[in-house]
Amino acid sequence: MLVSEQKILILNTGGTLSSTLTKNGLAPGLGREDILRDLEWVSGNIHIDFEDIYSLDSANIGPEDWKNIAVKVRENYEAYSGIVIIHGTDTMAYTASMLTWMLQNVPIPVVLTGSQLSIEHPVADALENCRLAIQMAASGYPGVFIAFNRKIMLGCKASKVRTMSFDAFESINYPYICKVNSHGMKIEENYIPKIHGKFTVNTEYSDKVMLLKLTPGLDPVVLYSLYEMGYEGVVIEAFGLGGMPFREKNWIKAVYELVEKGMAIVVGTQCRYEGSDLRVYETGRESLACGVMQAKEMTAEAAVTKLMWALGQTKDRDMIDKILQA
Ligand code: ASP
Repeated sequence: MLVSEQKILILNTGGTLSSTLTKNGLAPGLGREDILRDLEWVSGNIHIDFEDIYSLDSANIGPEDWKNIAVKVRENYEAYSGIVIIHGTDTMAYTASMLTWMLQNVPIPVVLTGSQLSIEHPVADALENCRLAIQMAASGYPGVFIAFNRKIMLGCKASKVRTMSFDAFESINYPYICKVNSHGMKIEENYIPKIHGKFTVNTEYSDKVMLLKLTPGLDPVVLYSLYEMGYEGVVIEAFGLGGMPFREKNWIKAVYELVEKGMAIVVGTQCRYEGSDLRVYETGRESLACGVMQAKEMTAEAAVTKLMWALGQTKDRDMIDKILQA
């Protein structure tokens, strides 16, 4: 049952939802007054406090902003039943993933949402997305979520898969937490990870992490170059179940040498669905034997942010692997 008479906080960071047409194209410009006026239509008897923290296209949101948002959650979580973050869709899955790691055991719902059309547009998806985000924020289910197109996803399982349609996000290799239909908003609580400890906000991360997509014939010199440039970690999107070549373009030799030097190398797949398993083929097993870590069913957004966060906690390979697999 949905709880009413609640108090939630909306943090606005920008994105299409708050965009307005400028002479340079669509850009965030709407703020508290404009957005709140419209939200009255969808908030029911849930009390809303609203704060503009940025007015940015999400292409301009990065790790320091993730940190600031996490700190905002820490500052406000005791005063509110839940927090909604209005965010551009382009990098929302990265922010949602990193907030999942930074806000360990968050005791309230933190729900990211945005839209494909500005809230000013007469046929926008903005109000519907906000309605769902507000309801989820008031639901009492703790965790970091994305609310979009009448679906709730775990923040670290969502990915933007369409650039224009309203169903821009999918939950990848993980069930939806809720799909609104004629039964209303039925939350599958079994799919929400249980809290197992004290709420801690840990915003340390490494920005020396790269996501690298393998293509046939790619020279492993790029991997050595990243190491020379000071990169501490790489997520390699390899082929199929996680295969990498070992003929003249010898990626297995490269990962062997760089893992030996202390680089944290995570191998996943460039296939969107069903994840990687390096144990199946020789092209995967060889790299596993060199000490690479597995991304398994993680989205690229989750794998990269988790490696960034893990490297902020420790440089020890086994500890990093433990964090990745948790
Ligand atoms: N470019 C926009 C952004 O990510 C797209 C959106 O919000 O849908 O900020």
